[in-house]
Amino acid sequence: DAPAPGAGGTRFDLERETELRFEVEVGERVQLELLTGQAEVFGSELNRNKKYTFGPGSKIAVFTWQGCGVCLYGKTEVAYVSKDTPMLLYLNTHAALEQMRRQAERDNERGPRVMVVGPTDVGKSTVCRLLLSYAVRLGRRPTLVELDVGQSGVSVPGTMSALCIERPADVEEGFSVQAPLVYHFGSTSPGTNIKLYNKLTSSLAEVFSQRCEVNRKASVGGCIINTCGWVKGSGYQALVHCASAFEVDVVLVLDQERLYNELKRDLPHFVRVVLLPKSGGVVERTKECRRETRDEKIREYFYGFRGLAFYPHAFDVRFSDVRIYKIGAPSIPDSCLPLGMSQDDTQLKLVPVTPGRDLTHHVLSVSCAEDGEEGSRQGVVETPVCGFIVVTAVDTQAQVMTVLSPAPRPLPRHTLLIMDIRFIDLK
Ligand code: ATP
Repeated sequence: DAPAPGAGGTRFDLERETELRFEVEVGERVQLELLTGQAEVFGSELNRNKKYTFGPGSKIAVFTWQGCGVCLYGKTEVAYVSKDTPMLLYLNTHAALEQMRRQAERDNERGPRVMVVGPTDVGKSTVCRLLLSYAVRLGRRPTLVELDVGQSGVSVPGTMSALCIERPADVEEGFSVQAPLVYHFGSTSPGTNIKLYNKLTSSLAEVFSQRCEVNRKASVGGCIINTCGWVKGSGYQALVHCASAFEVDVVLVLDQERLYNELKRDLPHFVRVVLLPKSGGVVERTKECRRETRDEKIREYFYGFRGLAFYPHAFDVRFSDVRIYKIGAPSIPDSCLPLGMSQDDTQLKLVPVTPGRDLTHHVLSVSCAEDGEEGSRQGVVETPVCGFIVVTAVDTQAQVMTVLSPAPRPLPRHTLLIMDIRFIDLK
């Protein structure tokens, strides 16, 4: 006989507008089952009597608008119910954005472009996911713009991307990532090349605007832009640049009054800047934890995710068959620059990389750029990428490198861009 629902687990009965927060211990898995009522995880509804599995390190909130009974199976690090959540404010924000979409539909205008900002660990990605899932549940087709190069929700770290959202995030796996537009940035912090970061922000904004011109649903759906937690100095300037490149209508500032005041002061008056509290449930992540999440994201790219296993390929690539570049020459003092050249030029320059042993473990982006002439080289910086490989070994004698690739040989294109990011393939 099948065990009764809830048998062997810990039951929680939640009152309306409360949430159960839990963290999964390292090396463990926890299953969640909705027994009665209705509940959602970051904006995605749970089905009754279905067991959802969360892996080690997951930090989850199960929220209920009407009240519900849920059960947890497995070892949690913490599990508690909180009555104090900002969900009502987040829902009101969603309602206001939906109002703007309706108006856009009526007046044949474009829907809201929203930028979500705040320091690290305030729940920016979670708020983006929530707003996108709520919008898509109402039949909208919003776009997620991911500018967080450290913790991208769309592609591997070190990239900037855009993704059309067509269905709510999967409770366990997040948004389905099909055909995203991805650009190579190359490192996990915008500060390593802020010129490139701003340039790629502009490129994404341009592509998004072009899409809005030909796709009415995308235009009305608008976009939700997730940003980095670096909100000072050039990081702050990058936010101002993003607001202008995307011509954002709304900025949601999570948890930081100073940032809120600065943006109110510096953005045009028609931009609505809104301060929202962060959820007490958002867990601070250590450097180590962030690094692990990044590693996991790359591993997922090659090996798949739980139910969906991928089998990557390993093969040799001759040095003579590829061209490897790094974007940005090391900066030199202004006084040493050749006449007529600016620092911008050096930061956006394609610098050829001579393959050697130090390539080992680096992640390389495969540029969509046609394998053309030297003359068209500069366009590569603003060309999207079609995938990633990792260099697993280099044989300088034989002039070949062994790569891990999601697809069998040959490489689809031969222009490769090197990332600062490394991945050690332990499989
Ligand atoms: P970053 O600094 O990387 O930009 P962030 O501000 O985008 O971080 P999130 O990634 O949204 O923050 O949240 C951090 C972690 O907290 C995530 O693991 C998320 O699942 C978890 N989390 C968010 N909200 C809650 C909540 N209400 N209860 C429990 N955990 C939560």
